[in-house]
Amino acid sequence: MPELATSCIIKGVNADPLSLYLHIPFCQHRCAYCDFNTYTSLNNLRSTYAQALSAEVRQVGKAAQAQAEEQRPSHTLFFGGGTPSLMEPADLGLILTATRAAFPWTADVEITMEVNPGTVDQAYLTAVRRLGVNRLSFGVQSAIATELALLERTHDFATAVAAVQMARAVGLANFSLDLIYGVPGQTLSSWQASLRAVLALEPPHLSLYCLTIEPGTPMQRWLENGRISPPDPDLGADQYELARTLLAQHGYLHYEISNWAQPGHECRHNLTYWRDGEYLGLGAGAHGHAAGTRYAVVRQPRVYMQRLQAGEAGPFPLSAAVAQHHTISRAEAMSDAVITQLRLLQEGLDLAAFAARFGQPLDEAYPGQVAQLAEWGLLEQCNGRLFLTPQAYFLSNQVFYRFA
Ligand code: SF4
Repeated sequence: MPELATSCIIKGVNADPLSLYLHIPFCQHRCAYCDFNTYTSLNNLRSTYAQALSAEVRQVGKAAQAQAEEQRPSHTLFFGGGTPSLMEPADLGLILTATRAAFPWTADVEITMEVNPGTVDQAYLTAVRRLGVNRLSFGVQSAIATELALLERTHDFATAVAAVQMARAVGLANFSLDLIYGVPGQTLSSWQASLRAVLALEPPHLSLYCLTIEPGTPMQRWLENGRISPPDPDLGADQYELARTLLAQHGYLHYEISNWAQPGHECRHNLTYWRDGEYLGLGAGAHGHAAGTRYAVVRQPRVYMQRLQAGEAGPFPLSAAVAQHHTISRAEAMSDAVITQLRLLQEGLDLAAFAARFGQPLDEAYPGQVAQLAEWGLLEQCNGRLFLTPQAYFLSNQVFYRFA
C-alpha cells in the first residue's frame, strides 16, 4: 500500500498534493440502473464542455495558488462519468494540459480514465496514453449476456475482453474491471462465472458493486410492474462471500469494502477519499472537499458552461460553477474520518491520530458505540487501529450510521 503523503504546511495552509476528479457527463445510452449525472442528448457539446472544464481547472488553480502562495501539485487525476472515453483525445488533451499547468503533476502522478468497452479501439487508447493517462477503469459489469442485456449495457463480454487486450497491447497494463452483483436473475453460479471470466484476464484491480435500484430509473419501474423481482439480500451476501474467497485464492488483497487489488495496484485516487484527504471535484455535478469546505458543482452541463463563462471564482476551492458549499463542522469532520477510514479494511482507523486531530478519543466522541459494535462482532481493535470485522463488511452501513 502506498505510504501516506508527508504533510506540507505553508504558513498554516495545506499545500499537500491534491487529487482531482474530472466529471464527463455524456453517455451513448442510459443504462437501466443508472442515476449518475450523465446525458445522452448532449454529445454535440463535448468540445465546448472540455473548454469549460479547462476554464474551471484554471480558475481553481489560480485560487489555490493565491491561498498557498505557490502552486499546489496534483498526484492523482480521475476522469469519471458518464463515459469519459466518448471524449475526443484532443478534448482530453486540452483538459489535461490545463490540469498540468494549474496543478503541476507529481513525477508519479496516477491518471485514471473510466472506459466503456465498446467505445475504444487501439488508436484511441494509444492516443490517451500519449496524453498521460496511465490507468484505465473498464465498466465490464458482467460476463453473462442476459445480465448485460437487462442492465442495458451497450457492450458484450467479448468486446470487454478485446478492450482489455488492446489496453495491454498499447502499454496500459494498469487497469481495473468493474462487476455488478445482486442483478435480478443473477445466480450464485452465474456470478461465479463472471468472476472467473474476469479473473482469467488477470486484472491488476477489481471493483465489485452491489446493485441498488435507484428511484426514477427504468429498473425501479420494472420492479414496480413485476418485470423483475426485488433484490435478495441473502443472495447478495453469498455473492460477496464467494467473491472474497475466490479473489483471495487468486492473490488479490481486499483493501476496501468493494475493492480488491494485486499488491501495489490499489487505486491511489480513491485512497485519497478513503483516507479522508483533500480532493477537487471539477465538472458538472462533481463533489469536492478541500480547505475545510465541502461543495457540489451545478449538475446541468449547459448551466455549468454558462456559469463558467459569466462568473468569477470564489475563494479556494470554489469555482464559479459551484452550486452549494458549506464549511465542514467538527462533528461532520469526525464522522467523515471514521466512516471513510473504516472502509479501508487493511489500514482501518488510527485511534491516536483521531484523538490528536480532534482533541478527543473516539470513545468519548461516540460514547458506547465502539464497545457495543465490538460486542456484536462488527468492530475490532488491533495495534491502536480500529477495523471492521469480516462479518461487518457486507453490513457496513449498519456500523456507519452509528457514527453519522
Ligand atoms: S455507462 Fe455508466 S454513467 Fe453511462 S448510463 Fe451506463 S451506468 Fe450510467
